[in-house]
Amino acid sequence: MQKNLSLFRRFIDLLIPLRCVKCGLIIEKEEGLCITCWPRIPFIVKPYCFCCGRPFDFEIEEGALCGVCSRDLPPYTTARSVFSYTEESRDLILKFKHADYLSATPLYGKWMAHILDDLKDPLCIPVPLHWTRLFRRTYNQAALLAREIALIKGWVYAPSLLKRKKRTPSQGYLTKKERYKNVTRAFSVVDSKKIFLKGKTILLIDDVFTTGATLEACAKILLKVGAKEVHALTLGRVVKPDL
Ligand SMILES: [Zn+2]
Ligand SMILES: [Zn+2]
Repeated sequence: MQKNLSLFRRFIDLLIPLRCVKCGLIIEKEEGLCITCWPRIPFIVKPYCFCCGRPFDFEIEEGALCGVCSRDLPPYTTARSVFSYTEESRDLILKFKHADYLSATPLYGKWMAHILDDLKDPLCIPVPLHWTRLFRRTYNQAALLAREIALIKGWVYAPSLLKRKKRTPSQGYLTKKERYKNVTRAFSVVDSKKIFLKGKTILLIDDVFTTGATLEACAKILLKVGAKEVHALTLGRVVKPDL
């Protein structure tokens, strides 16, 4: 099935010219960005905090933690993101929230799979949307990314283990403290599915890491029901100064 899907994609690629995901210019290679847009996207590279992935702007030894993680270690083992969320990179994420831009999924999945540290057969779990929001939007972009990464790596895609039981208001205008309050106890795992998480490594996937509150709430519940460790992976990340 996976082989057929990739053959089908290659066939489609031959028919439709590749375009830059940012400006739409026709490009020849599969990197996804034209030579003008490529240097404008702030891809996150080492050195960064071993735990939360916050980039450091100075050289530091491998495995070092940022100030925030040193004071209060997040429940996930690692969090990694492809690029910083800035004026220049913002439209790559915003466009992805609209259905006519879903063709970027294979490219984004490839970028995300590429930056991952070695993980041993994790379950790929997307951060879920509440069903009412899913009903309105018809798709969950985190789920599309998780399915793509599972496909690329040959890992198990497990979208139904984690549920969003509480409909939380949009996080956009809330302070960090309000966001944490907002998402606490918003997620759950139904009793009959806990067995599938026992002792497992989890790769939790979302489109953007903003304060980390959502990923932390998901990681907490997954660990509580017996997961061995949780790693988080997002496409974009809001990088705030390390205070
Ligand atoms: Zn471009
Ligand atoms: Zn950190």
